[in-house]
Amino acid sequence: MSEPLRLAVVGSGPAGFYAAGPLLAAGHEVDMIERLPTPWGLVRLGVAPDHPQLKTVSRAFEKIAAQPAFRFLGNVEVGRDLEHADLASLYDAVIYTVGSQTDRQLGIPGEDLAGSWAATELVAWYNAHPDYQELEFDFDVERGVVIGNGNVALDVARMLALTREELAPTDATDASIDAITSSPIREIVVLGRRGPVQAAWTSTELHEMGDLAGADIVVDPAELELDPASETELAEASNIVHRNMDILREFAAREPGGKPRRIVLRFGVSPIALLGDGRVEAMELVHNELVPDGKGSVRAQATAEREMLEAGIVFRSVGYRGQPCPGVPFDEGSGTMPNDAGRVLGEDGKPLTGVYCAGWIKRGPTGVIGTNKKDAAETVEALLADAEAGVIGGRGASAAEVDALLVDRGVEAVVYSGWEAIDAAEKAAGEPHGRPRIKLTTWDELLATARG
Ligand code: NAP
Repeated sequence: MSEPLRLAVVGSGPAGFYAAGPLLAAGHEVDMIERLPTPWGLVRLGVAPDHPQLKTVSRAFEKIAAQPAFRFLGNVEVGRDLEHADLASLYDAVIYTVGSQTDRQLGIPGEDLAGSWAATELVAWYNAHPDYQELEFDFDVERGVVIGNGNVALDVARMLALTREELAPTDATDASIDAITSSPIREIVVLGRRGPVQAAWTSTELHEMGDLAGADIVVDPAELELDPASETELAEASNIVHRNMDILREFAAREPGGKPRRIVLRFGVSPIALLGDGRVEAMELVHNELVPDGKGSVRAQATAEREMLEAGIVFRSVGYRGQPCPGVPFDEGSGTMPNDAGRVLGEDGKPLTGVYCAGWIKRGPTGVIGTNKKDAAETVEALLADAEAGVIGGRGASAAEVDALLVDRGVEAVVYSGWEAIDAAEKAAGEPHGRPRIKLTTWDELLATARG
């Protein structure tokens, strides 16, 4: 083989590791650049704490990280410590796998009231993201509302309903476990703007909503009656949708079990305003009818019917959204980097030499963790084809030159052994309590432990 390529992968979530794996296997060298001192992206900071089985994918990432040609450079932020232009001159190619860093908004009056949150803020908080520990959620409420019908909405509704016994063996922060379990909250309402056939959640996640120790699941059978367009859609729908309908019908047939909390799944309603004196107290809902969208599904169309719903805390869970990386093309409409099979495109629509993307910043915030494997493989294939064609290669600076630049800029990179020190400390803290880990929650603790 000719000289190994020196490659930068920006972002250490699943897409980053699924890109690094085949690049290392092809004999190339990968520096993975990450703004946090910890790797794994949403596997560490997004996956719900009561879903430890989903986090075991990090074992595959550990094997990738153990390869000699791999380096982790945490606590290095592109746009602050290094610019895209630096990466472009230091490496033969740069692959952005930075995910979707922010959330989508509803754009309705009252969305900025205290007590109105992005679901992603709650998720980052209970998962110990060091940037989100100062948020002050007021759970001194009787009803919470989650807007959206995706898996994140289910995660948030479920987390708010878990008992202390269910949360105790998880790696959720102690502060979040205390706050959630001591809340007087009685009801969590999940609002879908369309119907049950169009819900974006998956069946396993829906099914477990019916198995919670401290919360009943409530579905009004009338809301499962389908309009003709949804009936047609269901006839053509995947097994997942049919299974979801079976699960929902079983939920709707249940008698209330008298558990302390209840989760209510509602369909065909959209919030049009959040109301309250200085903080959320209620929301105005409009009832929707579903009309064919001309693409084989239906869209929600508001009717004249309105409803008031009291709620003390509201989480919008209507999808993530990508953020631009300074110096790299970004499509505001889709919140992604414009690309062709992972080759980032310039304004002229032609690929930029040596710039690639994979994961959510490439295709948008869809799919499960494993979806990123195929996605990253496509990008790697494009990159390797470009190397084969002589489009990229022969420019990469040495690892020592990269390190020297970081030192010169006063950047204290957390290398993989630093993360291993954090990992060991967290696991050791969790072990006596039967927990997988107790996460460090502040930048200071994380950096000090990595140094230690
Ligand atoms: P998502 O699956 O895209 O769901 C977003 C939901 O928000 C949809 O129900 C959507 O309804 C609704 N929505 C969008 N705009 C709205 C508006 N203005 N008003 C009301 N509702 C609105 O997004 P997500 O839940 O954030 O999840 C992101 C990805 O991560 C998904 O692929 C998900 O499966 C994955 N994930 C997986 C797991 C797991 O496997 N356990 C856990 C968490 C997340 P419409 O369909 O009507 O647009």
